[in-house]
This record gives sequence, structure tokens and C-alpha cells, in this order.
Amino acid sequence: MENITVKRKPREGEGVIMVVSGPAGSGKGTVVNSLMGLAPDELELSVSATTRSPRPGEVEGKSYYFITREDFESRIQNGQMLEYNYYCENYYGTPADAAKRVIASGKSLILEIDINGGLQVKKSYPDVVLVMLLPPDFDTLEQRLRGRGTETEEVICARLKRACQEVAMIDQYDYVVYNETGRTEDCARDLLSIIHAERRRVKRNPSVEANFFTPCRECCED
Ligand code: 5GP
Repeated sequence: MENITVKRKPREGEGVIMVVSGPAGSGKGTVVNSLMGLAPDELELSVSATTRSPRPGEVEGKSYYFITREDFESRIQNGQMLEYNYYCENYYGTPADAAKRVIASGKSLILEIDINGGLQVKKSYPDVVLVMLLPPDFDTLEQRLRGRGTETEEVICARLKRACQEVAMIDQYDYVVYNETGRTEDCARDLLSIIHAERRRVKRNPSVEANFFTPCRECCED
């Protein structure tokens, strides 16, 4: 995972790359949809590449970029994937070129991927903002998983165990946002506030020096 191409500092006016991760039951998909609706002009949702075949109704370039295994493996070799995973005999990953294009346009890019994916992105692009979305407490998480009524006890236990493992990695993340039941939009607003705050970081605004220090020095020398 070392040969990734976006290993560089953010530039002036560039958008933020924000990863939203969270265990099953955190309501990630709903919150991210709400976030995109809050600021469509500022944000873009990352479209992953995959080697699996399209399912009925899936659209190339919207649902996924459907590419061949050969193409995917060559992109890995050439450092063109920001992160990737091999799952159920197929590759899934975030194309680095699309990510760079979006943030260069000034928009912020939202990645809805798991924690391992988020940590992979951090290695190649340390200025990524990693956000963990959680239900307000463990009981709520359990209720949400059970409330679906579609999974066996074994599957529910496996998901809870996985959720605990994921939460245990929180110290490697930057922010935690709680998704209180029925407060999807508040939660999405929290995410948008994080993006706005991150854009105000001094390191993302290097022109402050040219705009203020240089004229200031000239003034003091007179
Ligand atoms: P599906 O085939 O059901 O669309 O997705 C299978 C799994 O791949 C899901 O768990 C999904 O979250 C994950 N996945 C989709 N895109 C990406 C990606 O870009 N990176 C990573 N790491 N996982 C992904």
C-alpha cells in the first residue's frame, strides 16, 4: 500500500477529503445522503471502482466504475488507488485520480468506507479527515441491528463483535459524531461543520503569509 500518488500537502483552496466510517447500525448511508443534500455545490461523493459485475439498475460512473481485474491490479501497481480492499473475490477501491480532480476543483470529497480503508487513505494523504459515526451508545447499536429483524442471532453477534473491534480503533480517527435516533440532519450538519472548520486550518491557507506578512514587513521597514 506504499505506492500511492497523492502523498502531498493540501493546496490553497483545495477541498477536504473526508472519510466517514462507522459500524453496521451507525446509519452511515442515511447520514451521508443527508450531508450531500445539505451542500451539493461544496461536496462530491466518491465513486469506487470494482471488478465485480454491475447489478441490475447500477450505473457506470455513478454506482461504481466497473473495471477489469487486470486494470484494477495495474492501478494498484501504479499507485492509482487511494485505498482498496479484496472482498468476496472482487476488488473494491477509491481511484486516486478522481479524488485529486475533485479536491483540486475546490469541492470536498466524501468517502463512505470502512476503518481499514480510512487508515489506508491516511497513509498516503495524511491530511484526510477521518470521522467515525456511532450510535449514541452500545444498547442503541444492538437495538438497531436487532430491529432490522432480518438477521440470525449468529449474524447479529458477529456484527456486534465487529462493531466493538472497529470502535476500539477510534484513537486513530480524528472525530467522533453521534447519530442520535431521528436526528439524521443534525448529524449531517455536524459533518458539514467539521469540513468547514478543516478548510479554515492554517495549513490549508498558505496565502495568509503572502497576503499579510509581506505587506507588513514592507510597512515596518519604511
Ligand atoms: P457491494 O458489492 O455490495 O456493492 O459492496 C461490497 C462491499 O465493498 C461493501 O462492504 C462495500 O462497503 C465495500 N466497498 C465498496 N466500495 C469500496 C471502496 O471503494 N473501498 C473499500 N475499501 N470498500 C468498498
